[in-house]
Amino acid sequence: MSTTQEARLERQIERIKRELALVGELRPGSLSTQYNVCGTAGCRCKATPPKKHGPYYQISYTRKGKSSTRFVRKEDLPSVRRQLKNYQRMKALVERWIDLATELTTLRLTQKPR
Ligand SMILES: [Zn+2]
Repeated sequence: MSTTQEARLERQIERIKRELALVGELRPGSLSTQYNVCGTAGCRCKATPPKKHGPYYQISYTRKGKSSTRFVRKEDLPSVRRQLKNYQRMKALVERWIDLATELTTLRLTQKPR
């Protein structure tokens, strides 16, 4: 038998699980834009003012304590941006799930000691 409070939390958790199932391709990290200077003498990148090469896009991320970066081609930017957004969405849903689950299990502990 569950209280209305428990039933409400259970419903919210079920909704989060359904939403998680719908999260598409994802990847962690952040995108940055870079402009570079080359080694060619008299190149426009050394003019005054300089016209540097770029933009170059790169994604940085840390997994298991290891940082990595990868260059991203311009044509891949839309899908990479979508993947980064999906990752944030997944993280937010999981955080919410943890909050609700903590609330629910704490409620049950208090109601049913032993
Ligand atoms: Zn140059």
